Amino acid sequence: MMRQMDLVDRVLRYNPSANEDLLNRAYVYAMRAHGTQKRESGDPYLSHPLEVAAILTDMKLDEASIVAAVLHDTIEDTAATREDIDTIFGPEIGGLVEGLTKLKRLDLVNKRTAQAENFRKLLLAVAQDVRVLLVKLADRLHNMRTLNHVSPEKRRRIGEETLEIYAPLAGRMGMQAIRDELEDLSFRAVMPEAAATIAERLESLRKNYGGVIKRVEKDITEALAAQGIKAQVVGREKQPYSIWRKMERKSIAFEQLSDIYGFRVLVETTPECYAVLGVVHTRWQIVPGRFKDYISLPKENDYRSLHTTIVGIGEQRVELQVRTRAMHDIAENGIAAHALYKDGVPGGPGALNSESRAYQWLRRTIERLNQGTTSEEFLEHTKLELFHDKVFCFTPKGRLIALPQGATSLDFAYAVHTDVGNRAVGVKINGRIAPLMAPLHNGDEVEIAGSTKQTVTPAWEQMVVTGKARAAIRRATREARREQFKGFGRQILRVAFEKIEKVYSDDALKSVLPRFAMASLDDLLAAVGDGEVSAGEVIGALWPDYKKERVAGRRSGAGAKRSVDGWFGLSRAASLVFRVPGASSPPRAHESVPIRGVGEDMAVRFAPNGGAVPGDRIVGIITPGEGITIYPIQSPDLVQFDDQPERWLDVRWDVEDDQKNLFPARIVVTALNEPGTLGAVATLIGQTGANIDNIGFVALSPDFRDMIIDVSVWDLKHLDTILRQLRAHPAVSKAERVNG
Ligand code: MN
Repeated sequence: MMRQMDLVDRVLRYNPSANEDLLNRAYVYAMRAHGTQKRESGDPYLSHPLEVAAILTDMKLDEASIVAAVLHDTIEDTAATREDIDTIFGPEIGGLVEGLTKLKRLDLVNKRTAQAENFRKLLLAVAQDVRVLLVKLADRLHNMRTLNHVSPEKRRRIGEETLEIYAPLAGRMGMQAIRDELEDLSFRAVMPEAAATIAERLESLRKNYGGVIKRVEKDITEALAAQGIKAQVVGREKQPYSIWRKMERKSIAFEQLSDIYGFRVLVETTPECYAVLGVVHTRWQIVPGRFKDYISLPKENDYRSLHTTIVGIGEQRVELQVRTRAMHDIAENGIAAHALYKDGVPGGPGALNSESRAYQWLRRTIERLNQGTTSEEFLEHTKLELFHDKVFCFTPKGRLIALPQGATSLDFAYAVHTDVGNRAVGVKINGRIAPLMAPLHNGDEVEIAGSTKQTVTPAWEQMVVTGKARAAIRRATREARREQFKGFGRQILRVAFEKIEKVYSDDALKSVLPRFAMASLDDLLAAVGDGEVSAGEVIGALWPDYKKERVAGRRSGAGAKRSVDGWFGLSRAASLVFRVPGASSPPRAHESVPIRGVGEDMAVRFAPNGGAVPGDRIVGIITPGEGITIYPIQSPDLVQFDDQPERWLDVRWDVEDDQKNLFPARIVVTALNEPGTLGAVATLIGQTGANIDNIGFVALSPDFRDMIIDVSVWDLKHLDTILRQLRAHPAVSKAERVNG
């Protein structure tokens, strides 16, 4: 723990005329007030305010800020009072400590109004003295640094709060160094797996490219020196959280990121900044569209720098930030750089550089507080500005969920919990039913309805913008796909076993797992399902006497008889089974594999020429490695599989009435070849709630033509309705289903 003298030394180093007595009194006061209190880590509580004060000495803040930091938890957590502190340390410090006390109750997991009120308090406290914000940020930083001692749930909550409030606030105030550290620590607290993955990737990148940074630094330094410019060039990795955000925002993989490393060129004067640019742009090739001049047009938070990206140096593109040391100080420390202790004059708002635009923003924001708006309106306004790239929504219980702009109800559901996302079937936004893909707005109250029967499909990925939701959807569809393959696998084996008059059991298979180098029964079933392992191989492993040909070619009279009431118990279907050579024993209907999921990545596809919709009698055809294709049983395309009985699979629809999934079907419409017909046909189809996926034309004669239209419909009834309505249209002479 930091000792009394350490703290005093730290202050004296940048402020030789500091009031040592004041600092010592603060140390002793805090030590006695906190007494035997301990932190969750087991350390004496006093270590916390001292470390917070130490962070502020790094920013070279005035002694009132340092003392306030040492005392910041005394009013809230000990018997100390504002009056005590005023008496001993004066009203300036008393005011700072009181401001910090008010902020201590800021808690995101609160009723919405309470939260708005807390945020308002934060800014009001800051309004009285911006140093409150600096101490508060240092306080949060130290708490984040020591977060590993609290429960995972609390860690996550505090991390989220930091990402939502404190890190953006630090950024808005131009304090990049603190913002980076807050984001990095929160990232690890909120998304530990993602943070670990990125850390691993960076580590391996460092192994492979470690020397590149040094070489680029050297090349640039030398090129500048040759032109008489003395510059310090520093290369560094991007922050893991900003890498993650970029991957999320652009939905790209780590490997696709081209700018993991950034380089800073520090010079003394502004003209030198532009001279550096001249040298660099002459020597290497510039990446168009990446040059930005934040020196002539500083950012809102006073950030000034030249940005450019070049190629031809190092392995990747190289991002350069060129600035003076003074600009760098502001870039790193922002408002704190303006609040520097100057010439022995105590700080305070008056000591702030009046040009600080971050401070101007704060003032403007706070003025709005006095314009009689409600807390909620105020929150809305302020947050819109502070978090202009975010939307803030609430659960019915008032929990705040912050999402990126454009986020949907489905993002919201996944932000609440992965299970809530996976089960989402509907949503009420501000009490009204809305689509799950509807974008959310600030202040929306979002209530997600769920069902355990819901199935996640890859199409959901199109409905979300957050990485968390996308990753969860991928995981769920991967699992669903595997589940389906397992189902297929078991089904395929059942059929194969029956053919050789064996009874299928999971247990029997376990003995051959090592033969296939499979860790579990599920692995083996999935491998059979996707065709990696054939049923013949499994049978060969279990009963070496049975030859492959016999498995495939064996006929069984009993099985054939059973097949009459086998496939779906329908004579039409059964007659098809009779056409299948060797299909001696079709599976019984109750063993059939349920079909639900639709989507490109799923194990299930629909017949390429015509599709299949609920209501159709269907059959599945297995393609090894690809999964299963569903055909309506009347499809003429099925003939090509007649000689491959092992690929046929009994399937049935498993579609809930309350889940309106769309399924593909193809129709052909013969209509008058005149203006407006296509529009009329499309409108008519659209009005029934169907989607049109594709339209093709075949010219028949000058006045008539065929339109081949791929539609997505709910079921056979829906499709019939469309066809009936089309036929009723005066311009349509014929409307039929293809393959139907
Ligand atoms: Mn504290």
